[in-house]
Amino acid sequence: MHPRNRHTGRYDLENLIQVLPSLKPFVAPNKYGDLSIDFANPQAVQLLNHALLKDFYGLSFWQIPENYLCPPIPGRSDYIHQIADLLASDNDRAVPSGKEVRVLDIGVGASCIYPIIGHNEYGWSFVGTEADPVAYDSALRIVQENPSLSHAVEIRKQATPEFTLKNIVTKSETFDVLMCNPPFHASLEEAEEGSRRKWRNLGKTKQLNLSARNFGGQGGELWCPGGEVAFVKKLIQESSIYQKQFKWFSSLVSKDASLDAIYSALKAARVYDMRTLDMSQGQKKSRIVVWRWLGAR
Ligand code: SAH
Repeated sequence: MHPRNRHTGRYDLENLIQVLPSLKPFVAPNKYGDLSIDFANPQAVQLLNHALLKDFYGLSFWQIPENYLCPPIPGRSDYIHQIADLLASDNDRAVPSGKEVRVLDIGVGASCIYPIIGHNEYGWSFVGTEADPVAYDSALRIVQENPSLSHAVEIRKQATPEFTLKNIVTKSETFDVLMCNPPFHASLEEAEEGSRRKWRNLGKTKQLNLSARNFGGQGGELWCPGGEVAFVKKLIQESSIYQKQFKWFSSLVSKDASLDAIYSALKAARVYDMRTLDMSQGQKKSRIVVWRWLGAR
């Protein structure tokens, strides 16, 4: 994990119960005698997330609709710190902070997770976009109910999900960086297989027969035609239209096998600079691909 990631140790559940007493009924010793929660129980995971967000980022309200993606906070936090280092690389190694640093988050999700972490860690302002109406309403509510966010985060609806930036970015506005955690599977079946693998690894045989919708993720959050390759290729194409309005573009790429097609698309789009930033959380490895054109702002 990134050295500035504040979620490196074990969760301090005793403290988190103090922070959010409604978490208490879901905390019990596991087979090793350590306090834990049942990670297969969406309600428990949601309350754990709320407690963490309240404890680390001072959020008074955080809630997501049933069956929407409940993000693991340590991993999401790593993307924010990697982006901070990227911006620092153009700024005499100092991370630029404050509201003037503007971030566009494509697919902000029901959880509004990147704006929450990014604004609290570095004071950046965010525009988060969302194509799913329920996730949009949820992100908007999180912003409105938390005074710490409402002056710095704006949520915009993408009414045409085939687009990523069109209808969102106006001609005159500029951003420091674009972030995106794309839907990564290519079909609902693939998303379901991914979730079955996860349950198998967690040793939860009971959940193996449930569909992807039952494990915290609506279909549209987890898959899109062509998977993450198609989504990121579309983003690359559209980003070329706005190349002078951004310093950097970036996207999470969850599968190693997606990289070749994404690099080819970046070369075909004649980007001037592209980098791959590696991330690992325990066993899980992922990466962020970043790019910009000559003459970027
Ligand atoms: N950023 C959140 C959610 C990622 S899931 C997190 O990291 O947890 C991907 C999100 O992108 C979903 O909420 C999905 O509804 C949204 N999405 C899919 N296509 C989109 C598009 N064209 N424009 C904006 N959002 C989109």
